[in-house]
Amino acid sequence: MSFNLQKIRNDFPILSRKINGYPLVYLDNAATSQKPQQVIDCIVDYYSNYNANIHRGVHTLSQEATDAYEAARQKIQTHFNAKEAFEIIFTAGTTHGINLVASGFSEILKKGDEIIVSAMEHHSNIVPWQMLCEKTGAILKVIPMNEEGVLIISEYEKLLNIKTKLVFVNHVSNALGTINPIAEIIEKAHRVGAAVLVDGAQSCSHIKPDFQKLDVDFYVTSAHKMCGPTGVGILYMKEELGNKLPPYQGGGEMIAEVTFEKTTYAGLPHKFEAGTPNICGGIAFGAAIDYLNNIGFEAIEKHENELLKYATEKLLEIDGLKIYGTGPNKTSVVSFNIEGIHPYDIGTIVDKLGIAVRTGHHCAQPIMDFYKIPGTVRASFAFYNTLEEVDALVNAVKKAKMMLS
Ligand SMILES: *Cc1c(COP(=O)(O)O)cnc(C)c1O
Repeated sequence: MSFNLQKIRNDFPILSRKINGYPLVYLDNAATSQKPQQVIDCIVDYYSNYNANIHRGVHTLSQEATDAYEAARQKIQTHFNAKEAFEIIFTAGTTHGINLVASGFSEILKKGDEIIVSAMEHHSNIVPWQMLCEKTGAILKVIPMNEEGVLIISEYEKLLNIKTKLVFVNHVSNALGTINPIAEIIEKAHRVGAAVLVDGAQSCSHIKPDFQKLDVDFYVTSAHKMCGPTGVGILYMKEELGNKLPPYQGGGEMIAEVTFEKTTYAGLPHKFEAGTPNICGGIAFGAAIDYLNNIGFEAIEKHENELLKYATEKLLEIDGLKIYGTGPNKTSVVSFNIEGIHPYDIGTIVDKLGIAVRTGHHCAQPIMDFYKIPGTVRASFAFYNTLEEVDALVNAVKKAKMMLS
C-alpha cells in the first residue's frame, strides 16, 4: 500500500470543516481520533439494514447481527494475535476494562499483597487500584520516572518480589507520548509470578501489539482512539486468567443456567459480557481496524514519526518553550509550555485560529506534580495530519506568545 495523504484525508469528512473561519487543524488525537467515511458507513449500514439483538434470536436479522459481531471479534483477535477469539472481551472502553479486572482481583488479593503501577498512569489506571487496595488491604507501589519522562527500570526491579501480584502500566503515556518497554516489564513481572495488565488506549492507533509474543496477561484499549466509535473497546485476557476471575456484572448473556437456587455462569467471553452490548460499536470497531490495516501500521508509524520530528524541531525554535516527554521512544505527542504563560491561554488563542489542542493535566496529575506545572499544551498527531498543519500550529503558538507576553 502506498501512503497517499490527500486520499486518506478525503476519507475523513470532518477534516474539511472550518472553525472560526479557518480550516480545522485537529491535533487532539490522543483524546479521540476522527472517523473515516468507511466507519461512518458501517454504522449507518448496521442501523439501516440489520439492527437486531444478538445471540438470542433465530430470525434472520439476529443471525446477521450475531455473525457480524462475532466476525468483528475474530478480526480483533487476528489483529492483535490473541490465541483464541473468546479471549477478546468486548467492553465499553479502556476504563471499563480496567475496572472489570480490578473488581475481579478484589476477590483474589489478600492483605499485604502488592500492586505496582507506573508514575505516568492515566487517572483511570490509578483510581481503580487505589479503590482495590482500600478494599483488600493490598499495597500500591509506584515505578518512578526520570526528567525525560522515561520509567526507571532498575527501580521497578527493586519493587518486584514474591508479594507482587499485579503490575499495571500503560503502553504509551497519553500526557508525554513515551512508549514504555512493556515486553521487559512483563518478562520481569512473570519471574516473580505477577500478572500484568497493559493499558493500550494510547498505543493501538500508532503501533500493533502482538499479545502472544508479548505474553501479556491483560490488555485493554478503546475503539474511539483508533478511528472507531466511542463506547466500545476490548479487554484481552489469557484464557486461564479469564477462568480464574469471577464475573463482573450479573445479567442476561452471562449465564449458562439460572434457577432461584443457583446460577451457573457462561464461559468466556460471555461470562464478562452481561446485558445487550454495543453491537454496532463492536462491528464498527472491526471496520476501523480494517481501515487502519489497509493503510498499514508501518506507513502510519513512518508518517507520524516525521510529524513528531518536524513539530519538535519547529516548536523548540520558540524562545522559552519547553517540551515534556523527551525520551528516545515516543509516539506523535508533543506536550509543552511556554515560560510565564498558562497553557489554557495558549489553547484558547490557537482555537480561535482553527487549531484543536488539549490543555490541562490530561488525566495524569501525578506527572504534572512531578514537573511542578499546572498542565501542558498537548498537540497529538495522527496519520492524517500534515506538515502544513504543524506549521499552522507553530505560527499560532508564536502569535499566542506575542499576545500573552
Ligand atoms: C484515553 C485513555 C484512557 C481512558 O480511555 P476511555 O476510552 O476514556 O475509557 C485510559 N488510559 C489512557 C492512557 C488513555 O489515553
